[in-house]
Amino acid sequence: MQPDAVQQVLKQYWGFDAFLPLQREAIQSVLENRDSLVVMPTGGGKSLCYQAPALCREGVAVVVSPLLALMKDQVDGLVACGVPAAAVNSTHGSEEKRQVARQVESGELRLLYMSPERLVTPRTLDFLANQNVSFFAIDEAHCISAWGHDFRPEYRGLRTLRERFPNVAVHAYTATATDQVRRDIVTQLGLQEPEILVGDFHRSNLQYHVARRERGLGQLCEVIDRFRDQSGIVYCITRAEVDRTTTLLRELGYSALPYHAGMSDDERIRNQDAFLTERANTIVATIAFGMGIDKSNVRYVVHLGMPKSLENYQQESGRAGRDGVEAECRLLFSGRDLMTWKRMLGDLPEEARDAAFSSLEKMNAYATAVTCRHKMLVEHFGQSWTRGPCNACDVCVGSLAVVDDALVIGQKILSCVLRLEQRFGADYVSQVLVGSQDQRILAAGHNQLSTWGLLRDLRRQDVRQWIEQLGSQGFLRKEGEYNTVEVTDEGRRLLRGELMPTLLQPAKASRAATSRSVTDSWEGVDQGLFDALRQLRREIALQRTVPAYIVFGDATLREMARQRPSSLPALLEVRGVGQQKLADFGEQFIDGIVTYCSERQLSMDVAPLQPSAATPPRAAVAAPTANAVQSFPLFDQRLSVDQVAERMGRAASTVFGYLESYIRHRKVRDVSPWVNRAEFDLVESAIHDVGVERLRPIFDTLEGRVTYEQIRIVLASIKNSTGEPAVH
Ligand code: ADP
Ligand code: ZN
Repeated sequence: MQPDAVQQVLKQYWGFDAFLPLQREAIQSVLENRDSLVVMPTGGGKSLCYQAPALCREGVAVVVSPLLALMKDQVDGLVACGVPAAAVNSTHGSEEKRQVARQVESGELRLLYMSPERLVTPRTLDFLANQNVSFFAIDEAHCISAWGHDFRPEYRGLRTLRERFPNVAVHAYTATATDQVRRDIVTQLGLQEPEILVGDFHRSNLQYHVARRERGLGQLCEVIDRFRDQSGIVYCITRAEVDRTTTLLRELGYSALPYHAGMSDDERIRNQDAFLTERANTIVATIAFGMGIDKSNVRYVVHLGMPKSLENYQQESGRAGRDGVEAECRLLFSGRDLMTWKRMLGDLPEEARDAAFSSLEKMNAYATAVTCRHKMLVEHFGQSWTRGPCNACDVCVGSLAVVDDALVIGQKILSCVLRLEQRFGADYVSQVLVGSQDQRILAAGHNQLSTWGLLRDLRRQDVRQWIEQLGSQGFLRKEGEYNTVEVTDEGRRLLRGELMPTLLQPAKASRAATSRSVTDSWEGVDQGLFDALRQLRREIALQRTVPAYIVFGDATLREMARQRPSSLPALLEVRGVGQQKLADFGEQFIDGIVTYCSERQLSMDVAPLQPSAATPPRAAVAAPTANAVQSFPLFDQRLSVDQVAERMGRAASTVFGYLESYIRHRKVRDVSPWVNRAEFDLVESAIHDVGVERLRPIFDTLEGRVTYEQIRIVLASIKNSTGEPAVH
């Protein structure tokens, strides 16, 4: 079978023109009958890797899936695309099962879904041995590994496939990336010289934000309001928290439903269904919710408390934006969360408890860090980060501002820790610093300390946060059972003014709620039409009792609202519209579009946007980003741009941006290490002639003798001299 045939299948059934990364390679190994292990992040498009080639090969592909809900969802989705697929499971009667068996025998069924325990029964194995099985696809393959987060002993039985079907290839798919799990899957399934494909774990369409929980409900509503009428998940640590939050949200008029293991099965299924069919927008849940939820258009995932590990966080937050459309992941945490988890996990046997606590610490480090969130996540999963700022997290887009007098604040905090003889926790230290009259403080006489009230004018929340940040930068460490705060050797150097900390606080005006990539992807989209099409989708989904996103995904609706096709052939051009869906829903959607556009005299049949040439994200100009700040100590040492670029593993062009921030932020006037005297004078004389407003005239006047970057550096330094000629 030629790859072109797969391409054709992709277009005809799914309406896609191109493959996502690694899909082509993964499909190729299926076509070549070579065992494979495919590791891709959630939303990476794993299912298509076996679904598409199943249509290009003779016989039936057998797909193993751990959950009924997951199977049903996939089969519904395939049938909607016109693919002959079915599942057999315990909910089916014997007549239904016989019918499926007949479809397999006649060769008309292309994909057959079942649970591992059903597949390995002698009866099923005997039946399949007499059929033309094209290949086995093992979904959620990490379930076979005791090292995975979701071990299912029934997966172990799948080993038998290799022996019973020596000539049929076995393909495993998972989103769990650790090496140990990967190796385990290969051994347990007995894969032979498998092709191993590991995708990129960076999910660029997800916006990651972290904030302290201060007015939890308000912070939550702010997110939900921004995604009015769209789907989202809110995770809480405890059931009580789920119930409380749902009640509050409903009182405020939000369409929210709870989900946790303390509810009856019926109630849970009802709420989950309401969420999938979009009769409810928000599901508030414990981690009991999510496994097997394939809903592709979840637009936000808010954690109202800290998850217990980064693995959990990646998986739960990763349920947002599977369709590749932007989505937001927001973590709201408090120091108390750590205590709550420690209490809940405290009864584990010692070894497991140590492991759990160490995972918690890593999670806490993520929450309090001042480095790019995407970078931390990707690196946690063993991949290296070679990009610059991600432009999609609170740190990189600058919704955190760098505190000006970080050194002085840092010194005040550390000396207070010393005055308290390093015997208290971060909460207590912050209270002393802001001059709290708390009973405990008065009783201990700590209001008499010279450091009491030293940061009186600042918010306690900020001070508390800075203590964490000083910790994650190695100036402080927490010790012992009570997490008492101690000053490290580095911290002592900071006290002597030899080292500079970086402290961040929420920027005044949150100009970064949406990044550029978000606004870009809505370019040319008529929001009203998008809403109208979503309404239409919801009605169709209700009639057919399928989840809404099975009708069309968000990305497809958005494309429709941008191109506004007025005819069936034009609709077929939209990504995500295949032949079957065109036949089933085409007329209704064209009707909807034409009616909407004629009433408003909106143009139709607009050409699709060309993917814009990837412009590298630029560091924010107003406040330096945390990435830029990391270069400051290097510039303090007068290192050149190239040297800094090498040390930080960044492009020189990026580092020039950092240097500009550095000069502005540190009010540097002497830029001789980076611009030589002659060039400086040239720029200065050009400024005399053409002013400082725009770069282009300066550059042109100098006829290319000085680069744009150098001009920028000179300008920044001159501005620091408040209009005076620069001291040079
Ligand atoms: P995973 O199982 O890896 O989490 P899915 O198989 O659910 O991912 O796919 C995620 C989303 O990507 C789905 O909405 C799917 O329709 C979409 N998708 C898959 N392949 C392509 C493709 N080649 N082009 C566009 N969208 C795709
Ligand atoms: Zn980032």
